[in-house]
Amino acid sequence: MPADRDARSDCLFCQIVRGELPATKVAEDELVLAFHDIAPRSPTHVLVIPKVHIASAAELANDDGPLLGRLFGTIARIAREAGIADDGYRIVSNVGRWGGQTVDHLHFHLMGGRAFDWPPG
Ligand code: AMP
Ligand code: ZN
Repeated sequence: MPADRDARSDCLFCQIVRGELPATKVAEDELVLAFHDIAPRSPTHVLVIPKVHIASAAELANDDGPLLGRLFGTIARIAREAGIADDGYRIVSNVGRWGGQTVDHLHFHLMGGRAFDWPPG
C-alpha cells in the first residue's frame, strides 16, 4: 500500500476509524465505515468512507474498483434500510476547495428523506 494511504494522526476520519473520536456508526466491515454526519443537512445524512486514508476521489485509480464497489454497495444497502430507496436519494463526494471538501479523507455523503435541487448551490 502506498505511504500516502497510511492512516493520518491529524485526519478526523482516520481518528474515527481508529476509535479515537466518537461516531454514530451505521455500518462497518473490514474495508468501509458508515456513520451519521455530525451536522445533518437532510433527514438521512450518512457519511460512507474507506477505512484506508485516501485524500479524495481525485486519488482513486483502477485498482480501487473493489473498494468502490463495496462503498457503493454499502450506500445502497443503508439507503434501503433507512427507507429512502424508493423515493430516491443523493450521493455526493466533494473534491477540493471549490468542490466544498472540508475533510481530506474520501467520503460519500448519502443524503435522503427530502427532495434536492439541481444544480446544487
Ligand atoms: P465535506 O465538507 O464534503 O468534506 O464533508 C465533511 C462532512 O463531515 C461535513 O458534512 C461535516 O458535517 C462532517 N463531519 C465533520 N466532523 C465530523 C464528525 N466528527 N463526525 C461526523 N461527521 C463529521
Ligand atoms: Zn484519513
